[in-house]
Amino acid sequence: MNLSATLATASPTPLGMEAAPPSAAAAGVSVRNVSQRYATRDGSDTVALSDVSLEVRKGEFIALVGASGCGKSTLLRIVCGLLRPTAGDVMLNGAAVREPCDDTAMVFQAPTLLPWATILDNVLFPLRMRGTLKPESAAYARALLKLVGLEGFEGKFPRELSGGMQQRAGICRGLIQDPDVLLMDEPFGALDALTREDMGMELLRIWSEQPKTVLFVTHSISEAVLLADRVVVMSPRPGRIAEILDIVLPRPRSLDQLGEPAAQAAIRRIREIIYADRKGHVQFVE
Ligand code: ADP
Repeated sequence: MNLSATLATASPTPLGMEAAPPSAAAAGVSVRNVSQRYATRDGSDTVALSDVSLEVRKGEFIALVGASGCGKSTLLRIVCGLLRPTAGDVMLNGAAVREPCDDTAMVFQAPTLLPWATILDNVLFPLRMRGTLKPESAAYARALLKLVGLEGFEGKFPRELSGGMQQRAGICRGLIQDPDVLLMDEPFGALDALTREDMGMELLRIWSEQPKTVLFVTHSISEAVLLADRVVVMSPRPGRIAEILDIVLPRPRSLDQLGEPAAQAAIRRIREIIYADRKGHVQFVE
């Protein structure tokens, strides 16, 4: 049985055998006039987001870039339902997001695996927590681990895996929830450059086999251009959307495409927007 067939058998929702196009079953996200204000100890407020609106199509891959502190993580947490915005709404599948739900899953920069649990148990953990563990869940988890190149590591403990391997397991932990929307907050930020490139291409392969709506925060402009359908560039605090760029590179993507004029033009434009205002704490990798 090949990999797609394994996943199709083990997945809670049957998967197609072909790469992309994105599934009609994936959910679109509608961010409507969202603002977020944090109260600080000294009594002054931090305005993290100001009147942000964004329509994300079903199955679309969106990358969010912007200076540190411009509200990217805040936006993901609001979309995930971990944070209620001070103003505005997020709609998912036509319903307002008020709290974390089964339709979304978050992957953080640090995989934060449970050190005492095996990799397989770590991947299954969200299902255990939600009480949705099924007899077939372990087979699905194994198929996902195989998908990210971790076959044979199911019984290992996190300390026995490299940082990149742990992060792959963290991504499986997001995917096992079979969310319509995958929220990724700098998921490759802690990886070395080569592993990071591998993981980016790996993510695109997974996304083509398991179509989902993806919101992906990154500090790497080239990573954003390589992966995304659209790149949302945010301005420094208070975070607003400065510009949204369509990335017209054909799929499936490869690293070589970064040399193409369309990619270079997008990278140049994003740099222009970000470096036009250096008030924020800018930390970018090429
Ligand atoms: P980014 O992900 O773009 O780096 P964040 O969303 O983490 O930005 O933060 C945006 C702003 O909101 C920053 O100034 C940050 O210090 C502030 N902030 C984030 N979370 C909190 C919080 N829980 N309480 C107070 N301020 C916060």
